[in-house]
Amino acid sequence: MFASNMLAGKTALVTGSTSGIGYAMASKLAESGANVVLHGLMDSAEGEALRQEFEQKYGVQCLFNSADISTADGNEELVAASLEKFGEIDILINNAGIQFTAPVEDFPVAKWDAIISINLSSAFHTTRLLVPSMQQRGWGRIINIASVHGLVASLNKAAYVAAKHGIVGLTKVVALENADKGVTVNAICPGWVDTDLVAAQFQARADRDEVSFEEGKRSVIVEKQPMPKATPPSSLGDLALFLCSDAAATITGSSLPMDGGWTAQ
Ligand code: NAD
Repeated sequence: MFASNMLAGKTALVTGSTSGIGYAMASKLAESGANVVLHGLMDSAEGEALRQEFEQKYGVQCLFNSADISTADGNEELVAASLEKFGEIDILINNAGIQFTAPVEDFPVAKWDAIISINLSSAFHTTRLLVPSMQQRGWGRIINIASVHGLVASLNKAAYVAAKHGIVGLTKVVALENADKGVTVNAICPGWVDTDLVAAQFQARADRDEVSFEEGKRSVIVEKQPMPKATPPSSLGDLALFLCSDAAATITGSSLPMDGGWTAQ
């Protein structure tokens, strides 16, 4: 669909790219020629191995950073290290996220604070720090990994749903502020995706119903999704790549579901 080196000369920062969706997105961007800042909670030896894996496999330059982005300082550290290495960031993917489920009256305050800071405030910090240089260069792509929970709610996910609705709103505002500056800002809203983040929910169902992990997973998925299968992380990588292409230059402020029909109902 696109030239194999479509992103040659560009540099991407993907938060939470040590696993799951972020890893898949970083892989697709690197495969297309982008230098990549890999980021996530991983020790320095594992992070160094990940950096080498990317450089050898894709022939691009990479940096690994493990800043805890639950604070403004952590986000500033991540951005400063990225700029020190590469000078500029052209593509920002705000992907890092966590989950916790409980009824609102039992929701631990510390979990609420952590989800809001990691799943929402981090995107505010990285965006405010990186968008000025994208504006100056007249080109930028900001992709926020929201969720179907940015569009609709589910039980027991007060913090997650609030954060994801928040990031959809942030996406729209930053898109409007940059509509004449060559910088597009979009949210991707996945349904169920096969990653560590949701494996515990699949396992809990399997344990409750005394069935296999695969049966537990299918049971959870079909409660919400007409399509009874999880999206592979690589498909989200392809969607991110499309948003970085010239073909997507006029898509901005949008929230794109990739959700097996979840939000069509
Ligand atoms: P994952 O658990 O596989 O990856 C999460 C990443 O975030 C990891 O790299 C982790 O190290 C990083 N991270 C978490 N807390 C951090 C912190 N405090 N500081 C730095 N890094 C931190 O999860 P995933 O499923 O790939 O989720 C990625 C994003 O996609 C999240 O925002 C999630 O809400 C969203 N999402 C996932 C699904 C799904 O079904 N898996 C569905 C919709 C949306």
